[in-house]
Amino acid sequence: MKSFIPLSVPNLKGNEKKYILDAINKEWVSTGGSYINKFEEEMSKYLNVNDAVACQSGTAGIHLSLILSGISNGDEVIVPTLTFIAAVNPVKYIGAEPIFMDCDDMLTMDVDKLERFCREECNLIEGKLINNKSKKHIKAIVVVHVFGNIANMEKIMSIATKYKLKVIEDATEALGSRFISGKYKGKYAGTIGDFGIYSFNGNKIITTGGGGMIVSNDQKLLSKARYLSTQAKDDTLYYIHNEIGYNYRMSNLQAALGKAQLEQLEDFIKIKKENYELYKSKISNIEGLSLMDFRKDVLPNYWFYSLLIDNSKYRLKRDELILFLLEKGIQTRPIWGLIQNQKPYKKCEVYKVEKAKEYINKIINIPCSTNLEKKDIDIVVESLNDGINTIRGN
Ligand SMILES: *Cc1c(COP(=O)(O)O)cnc(C)c1O
Repeated sequence: MKSFIPLSVPNLKGNEKKYILDAINKEWVSTGGSYINKFEEEMSKYLNVNDAVACQSGTAGIHLSLILSGISNGDEVIVPTLTFIAAVNPVKYIGAEPIFMDCDDMLTMDVDKLERFCREECNLIEGKLINNKSKKHIKAIVVVHVFGNIANMEKIMSIATKYKLKVIEDATEALGSRFISGKYKGKYAGTIGDFGIYSFNGNKIITTGGGGMIVSNDQKLLSKARYLSTQAKDDTLYYIHNEIGYNYRMSNLQAALGKAQLEQLEDFIKIKKENYELYKSKISNIEGLSLMDFRKDVLPNYWFYSLLIDNSKYRLKRDELILFLLEKGIQTRPIWGLIQNQKPYKKCEVYKVEKAKEYINKIINIPCSTNLEKKDIDIVVESLNDGINTIRGN
């Protein structure tokens, strides 16, 4: 039988069953129970922050963070165009409008264009950044740490300070990525801006089936996040609610999984790094293909591997290569379609997007699960090699 090598699947070989059974035996399966507190505590400890709030998904975490950053109906938020749409949808949940920014050669937000946009297209009036075109108040930036890389946070934080913008770090793909030099040396992705959000969806570096976590240096806002995520109950006996809340709290079952997964995170990163380096050296021998680098000042979590295709040297175009590999039992995928081109976002403001348009046609993500075996990597590399001279249909 032909083997199938999936793009990214969970690895649940630690204490997952033990903790889940424990939660079931104690009959604590819902949004109360000790695993939620333990998972939050252990995440805080790992990330070196004071507190963390567990929620139902990364998307829910981004939604709450935007609310707590003071974004409301009619405001504007600067977002990347090259990322997963869940980074941007919560802006619309609130009735705010996104402004799409280009990416740099690391696929993270282009900080030079961000700076130029704030300087040339906006005016700082009484401490508010006003968009000249729409006359609306731009209140925040959503920064995404794409594929486990970290965006240029030093530059982003200085722009945000100058232009009075809140920074929401979408670190859903970058749990464990950290700076190893520069101003933020030792700091983890997600712990630098006003809010950081992680995701434990099935394909992320650790999973709770579905789930998320919010961190912030502002303890009060995190308590508020916890309150809003549990229906904003001001009195739990008499059911008094003074605000609109959400049903966004993580369950004890999810947290039991999360605790077991977090115990293995550093091992997962080690495996992903080894596999990345093995792929990288082997692929460097194939003309027209290369594995993209991560930033030099970052120790990434190596979540996803991005294969860059140069069709002046490599025969198969992106979509042909995806099909060619699939026929050999290897699952890959193109990076996302630009969000600015998705139906609900077609009328939104776009600022000088160039690089993102090029990169989307040249990159595929290749298998990167932590349970990938060396022989799987060989099969992928051999197939990539075969693709160099193959004309589809032959
Ligand atoms: C996965 C992901 C999310 C959403 O996380 P969920 O937990 O699936 O809601 C948001 N942004 C980016 C960039 C992601 O990759």
